[in-house]
Amino acid sequence: MDKKKQEKIRPPTVTLMGHVDHGKTTLLDAIRKTNIVAGEHGGITQHIGAYQITFNKSPITFIDTPGHAAFEKMRSRGVDAADIVILVIAANDGVKPQTREAIKHIKKAQKPLIVALTKVDLPNLITERIKKDLQKDEVLLEEFGGDVPLVEVSASKNKGIDDLLEMVQLVWQISPETSFPHDFLEAVVVEAFLDKNRGPVVTAIVKKGTLKIGQKLTVDDETIGVKALINDRGENINEALPGDPVEILGFKKLLGVGSIVHDTNILESSIVQPPATLAEIIAKSQLASDRFKIIIKADVVGSLDAIVANLPERILIVSSGIGEINSTDISFAKVASAPILAFNVKVNPSVRSQADRERVVIKSYRVIYDLLTEIEEVTESFETAKQKQKITGQAKIVAEFDIEGKKIAGVVVTSGKLKLGDRITIGSGLNSGEEIKISSLKKYKKEVEFASQGQECGIGFTPNIDFKVGDIIESLG
Ligand code: GDP
Repeated sequence: MDKKKQEKIRPPTVTLMGHVDHGKTTLLDAIRKTNIVAGEHGGITQHIGAYQITFNKSPITFIDTPGHAAFEKMRSRGVDAADIVILVIAANDGVKPQTREAIKHIKKAQKPLIVALTKVDLPNLITERIKKDLQKDEVLLEEFGGDVPLVEVSASKNKGIDDLLEMVQLVWQISPETSFPHDFLEAVVVEAFLDKNRGPVVTAIVKKGTLKIGQKLTVDDETIGVKALINDRGENINEALPGDPVEILGFKKLLGVGSIVHDTNILESSIVQPPATLAEIIAKSQLASDRFKIIIKADVVGSLDAIVANLPERILIVSSGIGEINSTDISFAKVASAPILAFNVKVNPSVRSQADRERVVIKSYRVIYDLLTEIEEVTESFETAKQKQKITGQAKIVAEFDIEGKKIAGVVVTSGKLKLGDRITIGSGLNSGEEIKISSLKKYKKEVEFASQGQECGIGFTPNIDFKVGDIIESLG
């Protein structure tokens, strides 16, 4: 089967923002009803936080969070989940503080914007003043040579709704995103609440891949199985495709709006678990036993004895032996999260590549003194580093891209936050000591300031470093 052929334009996700009482909820209801009149799917009865309509034979998904003030914050976070934002302004009231707040969010997220002037059925409209005010707030309308369309609507009288939906489709045609059902799953959370009977109920919109019943999902390092999927018409379904809004049952806790849900496969197939640097490996083993764990392979009994006799006391040798490093040593090192110190022994290429795959660190030495000094240094520098370094975020590299000669990492943030300009540590082996910084940070192709736990982003580094898919990035703030 040619997967490329199944590639389709994903339906856009749209969110409405604007000042309270300017008509967001009424407009969302009017849009919803348009679809019922069209009779495409039968009636939509459920409020799950998002719904999908079909207009001109193409689906559009709307984020439909409740309208009152307590939910405004959630609505603004929903901007990240949306592809297009409709800024709702009552034509008789004009640009108000929450309108400006919304404009700030939209600009920051660099989302395409459509202005909907609502309530045009009412008297005393101040349309011209609104247009001028928008210009002051740097929303450049098409009629003044900018790229922001404006559509006049009356949700109560059901006027202009089709024009607005046509505009959404036009805007999406300019920069659509494609996806195909065999992609790795990526779904973005738009609402979550605790139901007395059903437990945590999470509404997400699928952005890539297919969400299925029984699928294993990973969020915040926790893996859960999908127990049930319910669509926006309250029907139990077996799978949800790109663009579909769906309620997911099976989570053990509530997820934040904007969290990204992945299927476990993507993480297991591309990320190998052991930590990246020798210092980290030691740290991990130290946590468990309070003693540093290592594995030693040496050429002859005499040198092995000499090394063992001179190692610092706090070192725990989990395994030692004479002769070449073999595949069992690698497996053992992986399980113990311990580095292998090789003294005057060869590492054949197949074992070396197994070690690379399993993220096992092998350090080779020809002089006992060097080995002992280095292990002492690592121990000491680790102790200091542990006190000094406060890790502010951690991410796993799941993909790599070459953009204009620069290597860009596609990452999933597994804890904390990654910020533009952060110093980071990355990769395997000992740190070279060179400072590495996050020099670009993008979400859905847009430059952003930071990415939080559960989110996916693309990262460029200064200097341009040679990372591998599976490497772990730690941000030091
Ligand atoms: P929200 O807070 O932005 O969600 O605003 P609502 O949708 O709750 O609307 C606030 C008030 O404006 C309600 O009383 C609506 O009936 C009224 N309203 C909304 N849209 C229109 C419209 O197009 N025309 C008229 N005349 N009233 C509207």
